[in-house]
Amino acid sequence: MIKINENYIRIKNNYLFSEISKKVNEYKNCNKDKNIISLGIGDVTQAVVKVVIDAIHKATDEMAKTETFRGYAPYEGYDFLIQAILKNDFINRGIFVESDEIFINDGAKSDTGNIGDILGHNNHVAIVDPAYPVYVDTNKMAGRTVELLTCSPENCFVPMFPKKKADVIYLCYPNNPTGTTLNSEQLKKWVDYALENKSLILFDAAYEAYISQSNIPHSIYEILNAKKVAIEFRSFSKTAGFTGLRAGYTIVPKELITKTSFGEKVSLNTMWKRRQSTKFNGTAYIVQRGAEAIYSSDGQKQIRAVIDYYMENARIIKTNLELLGLTTYGGINAPYIWIKTPNTMTSWDFFDLLLNQVQIVGTPGSGFGEAGEGFFRFTAFGNRDNILEAMFRMKKLSEFY
Ligand code: PLP
Repeated sequence: MIKINENYIRIKNNYLFSEISKKVNEYKNCNKDKNIISLGIGDVTQAVVKVVIDAIHKATDEMAKTETFRGYAPYEGYDFLIQAILKNDFINRGIFVESDEIFINDGAKSDTGNIGDILGHNNHVAIVDPAYPVYVDTNKMAGRTVELLTCSPENCFVPMFPKKKADVIYLCYPNNPTGTTLNSEQLKKWVDYALENKSLILFDAAYEAYISQSNIPHSIYEILNAKKVAIEFRSFSKTAGFTGLRAGYTIVPKELITKTSFGEKVSLNTMWKRRQSTKFNGTAYIVQRGAEAIYSSDGQKQIRAVIDYYMENARIIKTNLELLGLTTYGGINAPYIWIKTPNTMTSWDFFDLLLNQVQIVGTPGSGFGEAGEGFFRFTAFGNRDNILEAMFRMKKLSEFY
């Protein structure tokens, strides 16, 4: 008889976005004349910038000729992209990273989930709460014990150290869904914790490009000795509109050394290389050429214009909601605005109120973990006209709470 991984049965169904679309579809069926505005999606809405499209066209033409055609990509990524990342994201910021510590992937979701392949199932794992659901679910799939680190207004969204010594710690900054950040001093405390307890930090920096304040680290490696304790995940999805193209990268430093149960030293970089060479066959050449193009000076200008557009949306949402008396968090170094629901409403009650009264869709905070209950997430990834219309409608909502 087939034996299954029964941990899959024990994890919660990922019902958040299906529940949202079910409710929206039911509402649409009964209210065909109503125009619904979504401020809930975590996907980008603006077209991929011209430099990327041009680079992809050029690379596609290369694929059409036998002399320039490329087959399997190197599983760790093409050197042209690794060198562009190294120079622009690290060396120019004074961070020392080596080319064989960078692994190109098909987006941060894969590697934040797959990294568990090289970690024992008996690790005690600490994860910020609320969080991107991949961290909790993939650890539960592997049968690991998970301790949630509550992030709330009471602790200014700065997670406290775990009650039980954590072997692995997931941090995500700028944070999805709260839009909050850690400054260098706060992040240093976590690096020091990991050094002292021989823990591994898995640092998800998918929203790094949205940081606007100077005291917020773009990379965990800005903190002294972080290369001894941290793996960092980056994504081109929100940085450059690659949600449909699929590319990102993971840094696994060579200083990350641990020991086997027999006391033998092992390098996580070597283990990750081994894992990737067995299970991953590289990101498409044309997509990697597209990613390389964002590091050109035109590329930087073009992606910055799109990020600025989203962040202006964030400013509009945040200021308007505050004028209506709502308490907001985030939205300054991240495209997410996290609000406290009025009158202690549950996240889903607030969702229903918004949908039914003003036809706006957001994301209930409880979908991101226990600590998200009583909160609600708006994203800034929409079109400006929709955002302005949504803010106009929100004014009408205040009479209901
Ligand atoms: N990490 C966080 C915190 C995210 O919010 C997302 C996507 O929403 C990802 C990773 C996944 O990004 P990618 O599109 O690169 O897989």
